[in-house]
Amino acid sequence: MSQDTETPPDPHYPPEPRYHVPGAVHEATRSLLRLRTGGDARRVAEHLVRQLGGRLVPAGTDDPSAIPVDVSFGDGGPLLPAAPPGSAARALLERHLAPFLLDARHVLQLSGRNERLAESASTDLLTGLPNRRMLDRALGRLVAGDTVIMLDLDHFKQVNDGFGHVAGDEVLRVFGRVLHGTVRGRDIVGRFGGEEFLIVLAPGGDADAFLQRLRADWLAERPLPVTFSAGVVASAGDPDETVSLADQALYQAKEAGRDQWIWTAASRAARYRPPRDYVQAYLRDAVLGNRRAAVRLTLDLLDRRVSREQIIVDLLA
Ligand code: GH3
Ligand code: MG
Ligand code: MG
Repeated sequence: MSQDTETPPDPHYPPEPRYHVPGAVHEATRSLLRLRTGGDARRVAEHLVRQLGGRLVPAGTDDPSAIPVDVSFGDGGPLLPAAPPGSAARALLERHLAPFLLDARHVLQLSGRNERLAESASTDLLTGLPNRRMLDRALGRLVAGDTVIMLDLDHFKQVNDGFGHVAGDEVLRVFGRVLHGTVRGRDIVGRFGGEEFLIVLAPGGDADAFLQRLRADWLAERPLPVTFSAGVVASAGDPDETVSLADQALYQAKEAGRDQWIWTAASRAARYRPPRDYVQAYLRDAVLGNRRAAVRLTLDLLDRRVSREQIIVDLLA
């Protein structure tokens, strides 16, 4: 046996792979990089074990083919991979599982730390909503067909003047909570600044229904009789233009007496049409059997916040 002369691993970089990595390990590591929670890491690890030809047994069973390495990531009971001694699957698991698990723990640690840092830099302290910086980033990913709502509390200065700043803060906090409770999963809502909030509804979102729901919930929860006004834009995809149009519509709502929302005239006609070429690209990859490229394309569409329903309809059509 040779002496172990390896330098200790650098905590900032995963170790260089010094062995041939089978496709399954490579794929598993890539999916791991996209993951966030321990539960997901467990799923990837389980998948990898199966891809390498092993199976999973609960720890504590007296199975001689079990390899004593817990792949559960602390989520649920301990789980061991198993493959008969001397089998090819056993050799693969023994060789690749340990470095994979090491990388997995490393990735989870790093992503946890990064998430905590990113969260504190992107969250508004008073309301807990995404802050302006986060909203600007979200606006950068705007796609045609998103609906943007710029919303402003009415006569808020009078709240501060009449009831004090602390009461004003409380109104903002409750409003933030109600707003947060009104949005669906893929919509974005944040505090744009002061008593102004910005909402991005993903394609398919119904701004009128959203605002009606918000108004009803706010009437039920508001600590003081404060109303809101809003400007609504069906975005053509350009962030600056969209925000400016939403601002103008908000201004009109204020001018018209507050406690209401107004759509920009032009934007009602703007309708989302997915680019034709993505359907063609998908079909080409599918026909050529390039499954991975087809999946990547679909994930990319989801990242660009094209709705699942839209993708299914387009691709099936
Ligand atoms: P309008 O209906 O035209 O929007 O009138 P307004 O009084 O709401 O608008 P204006 O812009 O004149 O005043 C906004 C006020 O919001 C002034 C500012 O002190 C208050 N404000 C902004 N941020 C905060 C905050 O974090 N806490 C409190 N309490 N007040 C805030
Ligand atoms: Mg205001
Ligand atoms: Mg304002």
